[in-house]
Amino acid sequence: MNYYSVVMALPSTYADRNCSLARTLEVVGERWTLLIVRDAFFGIRRFGDFASQLGIPRAVLTNRLKFLVQEQVMERVDGEYRLTAKGLELWPVLRAMTAWGDEHYSPGGEKRTFRHDADGGLLDAGNRCCACGAVVSVQDVRTEPGPGFEPGNANPDSVSALLTTPRRLLEPL
Ligand SMILES: [Zn+2]
Repeated sequence: MNYYSVVMALPSTYADRNCSLARTLEVVGERWTLLIVRDAFFGIRRFGDFASQLGIPRAVLTNRLKFLVQEQVMERVDGEYRLTAKGLELWPVLRAMTAWGDEHYSPGGEKRTFRHDADGGLLDAGNRCCACGAVVSVQDVRTEPGPGFEPGNANPDSVSALLTTPRRLLEPL
């Protein structure tokens, strides 16, 4: 195999092969992918729930989920999609990006708050609990709508309704 064919075999859209951020973006940088991962953290597991919650074309969702499974970010268990240990490691990434968005694009405050489920303490952008000082793992995080949350659909489907009440991350919807 010559050099050219090796390069062409890689799914790369980024030139820099020596940048792990570029490599990460090859896995999670496509449109919708991180939102699918976010919804998996919120407890969505079924294809139809991802589709209705995100409102994306089913063919695109199929493509994205297939790729996430291929990259071992998610796995398919009993017809449902779940985050793997590798996928769970994306939580601090999502948390930091969400906090950045709240800071710069949500004048009303956090769209969604994240708390240490054990003591109710608010988590900072680094997932440190303001009450007990611990860095809280994703399994111990509770989320609920924050001060900047804007209720949308007056007649939400069940998934949307569950996402507006306090709940622990990863608990299946
Ligand atoms: Zn705490």
